Amino acid sequence: MTTTQPDPAAGAAVKAADRAHVFHSWSAQGLIDPLPVAGAEGSYFWDHDGNRYLDFSSQLVNTNIGHQHPKVVAAIQEQAGKLCTLAPGFAVDVRSEAARLIAERTPGDLDKIFFTNGGAEAVENAVRMARLHTGRTKVLSAYRSYHGATAAAINLTGDPRRWPSDTASAGVVHFWGPFLYRSPFHAEDEAQECERALAHLEDTIAFEGPQTIAAIILETVPGTAGIMVPPPGYLAGVREICDRHGIVFVLDEVMAGFGRTGHWFAADHFGVTPDLLTFAKGVNSGYVPLGGVAISAEIAATFDQRPYPGGLTYSGHPLACASAVATINAMAEEEIVENAAEIGERVIGPELRAIAERHPSVGEVRGLGVFWALELVKDKETREPLVPYNASGAANGPMAEFAAACKRGGLWPFVNMNRTHVVPPCTVTEAEAKEGLAALDAALSVADTHTHAG
Ligand code: PLP
Repeated sequence: MTTTQPDPAAGAAVKAADRAHVFHSWSAQGLIDPLPVAGAEGSYFWDHDGNRYLDFSSQLVNTNIGHQHPKVVAAIQEQAGKLCTLAPGFAVDVRSEAARLIAERTPGDLDKIFFTNGGAEAVENAVRMARLHTGRTKVLSAYRSYHGATAAAINLTGDPRRWPSDTASAGVVHFWGPFLYRSPFHAEDEAQECERALAHLEDTIAFEGPQTIAAIILETVPGTAGIMVPPPGYLAGVREICDRHGIVFVLDEVMAGFGRTGHWFAADHFGVTPDLLTFAKGVNSGYVPLGGVAISAEIAATFDQRPYPGGLTYSGHPLACASAVATINAMAEEEIVENAAEIGERVIGPELRAIAERHPSVGEVRGLGVFWALELVKDKETREPLVPYNASGAANGPMAEFAAACKRGGLWPFVNMNRTHVVPPCTVTEAEAKEGLAALDAALSVADTHTHAG
């Protein structure tokens, strides 16, 4: 691996300019200390001081193919030499090919692709399509969800980041999805959780009026909110409810799609086809901003003779599409989705369960593929979270100490609320997975000191 020659002065200069001029997402600008990154390759990135980190966060769960994949870098360079930009109204080879490759992999008849620059715009447009298709306005989404930070997407989001921005609910109604570990329905097993969650959704629909509801949007496997794999039958049950009431079913696969769960799409685990599927992140590992909506034949037909009143200057951007084509082809040629399934099932899942046995701070382990969460608690019996459920939960205290311990051990973790997510690239090797899990194991000793047992 080529790493950059350490140069602390260069790092200090980058940081000084950053603090002078860059306004960061989700942050109190005066309290942050961003790491100046000098380079990256595969599952690792490094700073200017010579510290290398194993990226168990895949940045924001997007570098499914790892950093600097040579085929994707070459495809972007080649496309830049041919045609850097083109308005969405034209047809061009890379855009057509990216759409074909995506449509071939999405479930069922989701064969038309509307391109966006990222996940939130995909959600915005999916909701708009559903409203125009049905002529209805309300949209139902789950409390434990994240759908993006633009106007409709942040309103649809259930997690606490919605609260400061939720000035107009814009027809959004939240409901509880299934989550046995912290069951909103006081269920005792997955079957009961599934049955009660579906009954609760039916009640919500009946109360709101089915004829007013345009769409139900769900993350197939909710990601940022805690990687909660739905119980068997839940998504099929939601599909049946949507069909019965003429409601558009939107699955948000911005985080779970493109190999993350060990299938091309998480919906493949459950045999469910939505009417609209949103994607971004893993479609090209985020090398160039790209997202989109995969659209069913029926919804696409709504806009056959009637214009779709939406668009973006950079929709189907040639550099983004070239990187998507190269990413999808490399994932297929190098069996990267299969790798995610295999490493997840054989190495990460079993090892995380063994780690949970050893540490009083690990309340639950859940996930699939390279998409796992550890729920950190003060007490395994009461399941009291290591930090309270509030918006500032992960910013300080025990979780921050745990994250710092990971970083000292050369591991870059994904920490949110009282959870750490294990979300390495889908390309992660067995040796890398074991290296990261050993660092995680060591860092959890810090979390243990904050438990009632510690
Ligand atoms: N939907 C889901 C499920 C996500 O996880 C995210 C981002 O994490 C988004 C939408 C928003 O995507 P973006 O940040 O690209 O706008």
